[in-house]
Amino acid sequence: MKTLQRTLTIIKPDAVRKKGIGDIIEQFEKQGFQILCLKMLEISKHQAEQFYAVHAGKPFYNSLTTFMSSGPIVALALEKENAIADLRKLMGATNPANAEEGTIRKKWATNIENNAIHGSDAEDTARFELSFFFAGYELAQ
Ligand code: ADP
Ligand code: MG
Repeated sequence: MKTLQRTLTIIKPDAVRKKGIGDIIEQFEKQGFQILCLKMLEISKHQAEQFYAVHAGKPFYNSLTTFMSSGPIVALALEKENAIADLRKLMGATNPANAEEGTIRKKWATNIENNAIHGSDAEDTARFELSFFFAGYELAQ
């Protein structure tokens, strides 16, 4: 039996500013991800700090959370088999200088911070991140 998995992705403010939303969402669908729910919104610095709490204390925490609250983002709940790992592969390396051809970061990222897209990295972080942006009823299907 196929086991479906869910993951949370964010099209970051830099990619929204560059008009990458349509292209990036098209890649999700072409790669077999089902879009369960999506929303465009802006988050505050405080909300960005809560979302990235795992990185509190890192040297880039302050500028990362300022960046993430600098403009509209698009949050999506995606589903497919092996969604977490497959999305990470489609995203490419954190630093776009190391991202492979064909990845979203290779095409859309500017630098290691302004890197176009977020994706959950494990099942427990996916659960936390999905519930950060979406209510239970929005994902009940
Ligand atoms: P990923 O998003 O690939 O899972 P991390 O979880 O390590 O990467 O980092 C979260 C985000 O913080 C990155 O996507 C990027 O926007 C930013 N970031 C990571 N490392 C750095 C760095 N060395 N300098 C500036 N920003 C960084
Ligand atoms: Mg991460």
